[in-house]
Amino acid sequence: RSVDVGGTDVVVIGAGQAGLSASFFLRKRNVDHVVLDANDAPGGAWLHRWPSLRMRTVHGIHELPGMPFEQPAPDERANEAIPDYFARYERLFDLPVVRPVNVTSVQDDGELLKVETSDGVWTTRGLINATGTWRRPFWPHYQGQSTFLGRQLHTADYRGPEDFTGKRVVVVGGGASATQQLMELAPFAAATRWVTRHEPVWREGPFTEEYGRWVVGMVEERVRAGLIPRSVVGVTGLALTDETRAAIESGVLRRWPVFSRITPTGVEWDSGEHFSADVILWATGFRHDLDHLAPLHLRAAGGGIQVDGTRVVSDPRIHLVGYGPSASTIGANRAGRSAVRELTRYLDDAGRGAG
Ligand code: FAD
Repeated sequence: RSVDVGGTDVVVIGAGQAGLSASFFLRKRNVDHVVLDANDAPGGAWLHRWPSLRMRTVHGIHELPGMPFEQPAPDERANEAIPDYFARYERLFDLPVVRPVNVTSVQDDGELLKVETSDGVWTTRGLINATGTWRRPFWPHYQGQSTFLGRQLHTADYRGPEDFTGKRVVVVGGGASATQQLMELAPFAAATRWVTRHEPVWREGPFTEEYGRWVVGMVEERVRAGLIPRSVVGVTGLALTDETRAAIESGVLRRWPVFSRITPTGVEWDSGEHFSADVILWATGFRHDLDHLAPLHLRAAGGGIQVDGTRVVSDPRIHLVGYGPSASTIGANRAGRSAVRELTRYLDDAGRGAG
């Protein structure tokens, strides 16, 4: 369907932390805009987090600009408490979110950009992309993978530990989702084995502001050079808590190098070691969800989109928020503010030039 829905100054794609923050600052500056979100309810990716993820286990959610986030009880589900906060936020600031609208592609149309969606076409002068990563789970490929007779699932499909009762489970991945899901399912499973590409790095002590700046700087350097960003969590290492310490001691968090192949009944190393498995859980992360921008040819030779701050170097009408260094709740807030500041300045200048 190619219905013209209308024109606006800025289209924001995605109503997660990054998109809502951008919309808040656009509202503050009275910029005509719309937020297109594929979900059918508020919450961004939090709406889809596994039901057993409780507030006590999330790393810490930075509040959205202008409205405090009263810490929910530790036992509350993350996929309810955070969407509820986002819903109240959208209402309080009367943010122009339209949903469910799935953006399928963005095309260059001379001065304007054409945003094609499941619900018609928007034309706009500027674009803030805030589509996150949740819809692009990353599955690596290993020899023999398609012959496996058991179940394979990704972090994004994980619903809770009960599904693993009595099963022999391989968990692949070195991030926080891997360790959290492994520790949660291990008491239910008959046996578990944790495999990661690199030796895990355990981080002790508090996550200081100075350390945070260093981490963000590491990711920033990559995107400035047009490389594919590493996740912020990938740089920080894993937090050593009482829970992880106990799991290391009990052997649940004993790490194995990645197997050489997958067999119909399990995984196998070159040494001849074989682990029989009923389930392989791929906790192998996510990639940025940017396919709809492909017609704009923004990718640099390094495979990533080169950005300066949040601005796409090859097209200043476009900002990426929640991308690379801003892919955390605190980073997403800051990115929203600076993207709006820079984009409105650019559009004002362009408007004056045209007038
Ligand atoms: P999202 O919340 O993913 O929002 C993107 C929105 O865009 C969604 O609503 C989606 O439907 C929409 N969308 C996507 N594509 C389209 C399209 N084509 N058309 C229309 N709409 C579209 N960070 C922290 O700071 N603290 C934590 O504790 C934390 N825990 C995490 C736990 C997990 C399991 C994961 C995977 C990540 C975690 N993060 C955490 C990182 C977290 O993802 C970011 O901090 C932040 O929530 C991402 O916000 P976002 O706005 O960029 O994206």
